[in-house]
Amino acid sequence: MKLRSTLIAIILIALASMLSAQEKQMSITAPATDQHTTPAWMAQEISSLETQLLAKYGEAQRPRIQRGLKQVSEFWRAEDGSAEEFHEFMLANFAGTQSSLDTLFNRYERLLEQYFGHMHEIGREFRTQNDLDAGPIEGYDELFAGYDPSAHFTDDFFANKLAFVVLLNFPLTTLDERLNEGEHWTRRQWAEVRLAQEFSKRVPASVALEIASAMSDADRYIAEYNIWMHHLVDDKGNRLFPPKMRLLSHWNLRDEIKGDYVDEQNGLAKQRMIQQVMERIVTQTIPRSVIDNPAVDWNPVTNKVAASTENDGAAKPELKPVADREPDTRYAELQNTFKAVRKADPYSPSAPTLIARRFDEDREIPEARVKAMLEQVLSSPAVPRVAALISKRLGRQLEPFDIWYNGFRAKSRYSEAELDQIVAKKYPTPEAYQKDIPNMLRKLGFPGQDADYIAANIVVDPARGSGHAMGASYREGRAHLRTRVEKTGMNYKGFNIAVHEMGHNVEQTLSLNRMDHYLLHGVPNTAFTEALAFVFQARDLQLLGLEQPDPQAEAMKTLNDFWGTYEIAGVALVDMEVWHWMYDHPSAKPEELREATLQIARDIWNEYYAPVFHKRDVVLLAIYSHMIDSVLYLPDYPIGHMISFQIEEQIKKSGPVGPEFERMVKSGSIAPDLWMKNATGKPVSPDAMLEATDRALNQLGA
Ligand SMILES: [Zn+2]
Repeated sequence: MKLRSTLIAIILIALASMLSAQEKQMSITAPATDQHTTPAWMAQEISSLETQLLAKYGEAQRPRIQRGLKQVSEFWRAEDGSAEEFHEFMLANFAGTQSSLDTLFNRYERLLEQYFGHMHEIGREFRTQNDLDAGPIEGYDELFAGYDPSAHFTDDFFANKLAFVVLLNFPLTTLDERLNEGEHWTRRQWAEVRLAQEFSKRVPASVALEIASAMSDADRYIAEYNIWMHHLVDDKGNRLFPPKMRLLSHWNLRDEIKGDYVDEQNGLAKQRMIQQVMERIVTQTIPRSVIDNPAVDWNPVTNKVAASTENDGAAKPELKPVADREPDTRYAELQNTFKAVRKADPYSPSAPTLIARRFDEDREIPEARVKAMLEQVLSSPAVPRVAALISKRLGRQLEPFDIWYNGFRAKSRYSEAELDQIVAKKYPTPEAYQKDIPNMLRKLGFPGQDADYIAANIVVDPARGSGHAMGASYREGRAHLRTRVEKTGMNYKGFNIAVHEMGHNVEQTLSLNRMDHYLLHGVPNTAFTEALAFVFQARDLQLLGLEQPDPQAEAMKTLNDFWGTYEIAGVALVDMEVWHWMYDHPSAKPEELREATLQIARDIWNEYYAPVFHKRDVVLLAIYSHMIDSVLYLPDYPIGHMISFQIEEQIKKSGPVGPEFERMVKSGSIAPDLWMKNATGKPVSPDAMLEATDRALNQLGA
């Protein structure tokens, strides 16, 4: 679903939300019946068609004929037509000469651009009230916003047989082929491959519904998993956290740990307590009566519960303080999702497991390579050096929650108030920002003509939220930059975000309007467009005509990114191994999955973290909520960091941003490794990040 996901998942906000929208989109189609049964006559028809087509087009077409018929036969169902209809359709639609194939390809490319382009414009208009600062949102506005006009694309295209024409004439490929042979393919061949990928699966509606329902159950489970912090008590009955503080696991809990580094009095005690809470969640020893319940006080160390003596929230009297643990619901939810997504396996012949779909289709980087890259970061010699530096800065031994250390921050040269003032004066309205885009692009080194061309393709709108970028999906459209401007003018934070979003818009414009093939427009995946947007964002002070951060500040930022990658790389490995375990043990019980997950988390901790934390058997790596509700998406975070460093280092090496940026994005949505080789001479790898970390450590004298 390469094309569709780049086309439809167009709202790009921040790395934190990387891929989430796209990840949840499944290829969905709704046939009349759900049984995937190849009709009994198929083998006979294929053989007679092969003979006939060979006679008509000659021996040279044999491989294409065989491949096309095989591909079609894997998707044709009884309700698609009888043997005669099948025969007639294939005979009529096989493009057996180069000129008929060219015509077919060009027609699809042109019409799909129109289809996706217009669907996107409808979707964007339908979301206007929701997305823009345009007055109250009515109930029906939300219904408009939730409508996806292309939701039935795959379904419709199989039903009207346009999908079968593609499958008959263009190759379905494996990731292996795309990586090994793709380097020698022409741009047209790549475009043909992307076209065929649009129709690489045909998941029945009932299966798609089951998946959606399991995922939304898991979403709900996670979304309601709050801990009422004021009701955590220590051995002396002290409450470390303020009233009404309700933290969602695990994001808010983790962010509280990060925030507590500046609390000199109670920070450490709070961090230790949160770690305890997290471990109780992962091991499912958490009393079920304390989940999202301010009516119960809880000591997470002793695990004692009592009716709360403090009423600071919506008490739930029906939830009495009972000590029963949560009955492995966390793992039952994960297993439900696993069982649902597994039902799509038979309908996805070129990627027959969820693991394959994630790595081979969504990321297009083989799992073995991802694993090796993560291990390279985890076992890098930089780890003990950065760990020692953190320990020195904290003035104590590291504790396990220090995987979330965020103290590598440099003091800014300018105060926020100074910056706010400069920005507000420069950009009192969205129009003022819009008018300045050609000028800003020139400052980044885009040649004048290009700067004007790109700027003419960007529309600045007043955002309701903090801002986002929405590219067009056909060349008649324009990219939209949604930014927030207060009545008193834009503030610095808004400007910083706007520059990030403008980076997306520039990428979106160049990778669509200046692309040789529509079917190749965009970038390989969301990590790439985020990395390119960060290139802009990091230069926001330059755009204001101010001095950029000094090398010391840059070194701090590098170490911060490295430590974050080190943390999330281990989390990603746990996620990957758990999915393998589930596929190896499809009928396991939730408690067995729990034990397996804990063992996997401990093993990875003991191998890569225990040596610098000096503590074994920690289970914290399994706390991520994405593990439960986002089906194997955690590896995207560390890969995103690596890609970001590679792109930034390349830009730094090559002088002005503009020309290099433009050169890079013209590769379009080919495989990530090939894109990166064109861009930097090397496939996706953590090398650039590790080298930058090494330099940063030296810079800081560590
Ligand atoms: Zn972004």
